Amino acid sequence: MIRSLRFRLTAWYLGFCALLLVLFSVFLYGVLSRALESRLDQTLTSDAVTAAGLLEDEMGEMNGDAPRAAAEAVSEMQIRGVVIAVFDSGKLLASSATDESADWTSLAAGTAAATDSVRAVPEYGRYGARAAARRLRVRSHEFLVLAVASLGPIVSDLRVLRGVLYLALPLVLALAGIGGFWLTRRALMPLNYMAAQARTITSSNLHDRLNIGDAAEELNVLAVSFNELLSRLDQSFETMRRFVADASHELRTPLSIIRGEADVALSRDRSPAEYQEALALIQDETRRLTRLVDDLLNLARADAGHVRLQVQDFYLNDLLSDCCRSVQALALARTITLECSCSEDVTFRGDEELVRRMVINLLDNAIRYTPAGGRVSASLETQRSELRLRISDTGLGIAPEAATHVFERFYRVDKARSRQEGGFGLGLAIVKWVAESHHGAVEVTSQPGAGSTFTVVLHR
Ligand code: ADP
Repeated sequence: MIRSLRFRLTAWYLGFCALLLVLFSVFLYGVLSRALESRLDQTLTSDAVTAAGLLEDEMGEMNGDAPRAAAEAVSEMQIRGVVIAVFDSGKLLASSATDESADWTSLAAGTAAATDSVRAVPEYGRYGARAAARRLRVRSHEFLVLAVASLGPIVSDLRVLRGVLYLALPLVLALAGIGGFWLTRRALMPLNYMAAQARTITSSNLHDRLNIGDAAEELNVLAVSFNELLSRLDQSFETMRRFVADASHELRTPLSIIRGEADVALSRDRSPAEYQEALALIQDETRRLTRLVDDLLNLARADAGHVRLQVQDFYLNDLLSDCCRSVQALALARTITLECSCSEDVTFRGDEELVRRMVINLLDNAIRYTPAGGRVSASLETQRSELRLRISDTGLGIAPEAATHVFERFYRVDKARSRQEGGFGLGLAIVKWVAESHHGAVEVTSQPGAGSTFTVVLHR
């Protein structure tokens, strides 16, 4: 449950909502209680001023009879919830209070210092009060007029607000939770849809693609990425399928030759010379088979990333001369002139055996696809950190449409001729892999009938 994205999203969303609501409630409560108090303060101040004015008038009318003037002024100021009290030199003359429990003497003493301002009177009544005081001097009397109001109504208003908030907060949060859960469910629905579609895709229908309609952009990105992954998988599956089919096909030919030869040899008694001939043919085909299996194994290992290069420093020019020497016999047998121009010392860091294999493959091809009397040349050029290994021939050449495919596995321009020459169409695929595994590249330029040049670019 905790691992469910829907649950986590809703929990985060709820937590955030709860925080916002609590902050909002605290803010609302604070602002409201302050506003209520300041409105009460204003009312009390104006009441105290009015009462003081009345008292002054009454003193004039009553010829300085302070108790009567005070009683008169207080009786004229009957305001609901506000108590008016008049003191003369600290002594209570009149008050509109019905509850006599208030300690007027200390109240008067307390407010005396804060005349003309409003102060809190916590000891008044059950909830405390606010009191506005007004001082005035009439005919040698020192009057103090107080307007006092209990905080009770404000406290009960705020209690109502608190009740509403206590009730509303969980309710709003519950609704927000349900809404959030529903929303995340809706937002993540295309994911379920995608998962259901992805589950139906197997190796047999890798060309199918996810379709999530007009889902949100973010999910669309996911679907597009997934579809691109499917395309890549489809492509490599297709390559693998073709590779397996081609490999089986290639393996079948020598195997059927071996089997046919053995069947014929064993069909009746034969002379030792006939057995020898049959065995020689079988040996030839077995050699071919071994080479094919080695090549296949190497390419399969390279695909799986299991080939670890045995990197070391060596002289590339020496390696090229060695390779030329080893194919010299083949060139001679075909009356092909082999030139090798690589006298300058060129050091290179890489897998010597693999590079040797690459050069031999290129030289071998050049000799095999060049008619008798032709010329094959190998050269090595250096341009700063770049090395260019070039194998050219004056042979058959490759048509432009075929040149783009010659590095593909099992691709042969002329299948019959290549097989006759002992090729499987894997030589150049191996050349390409060796060049690329050394962070290099191989390219071909060719003119049908005039010859081809294979250039391997490597970096020191
Ligand atoms: P193969 O074992 O058939 O030679 P490769 O992978 O070495 O396989 O070469 C692929 C194809 O490229 C060959 O079948 C051949 O048609 C063509 N090719 C390779 N090298 C040359 C070359 N030097 N001249 C003409 N064609 C070539």
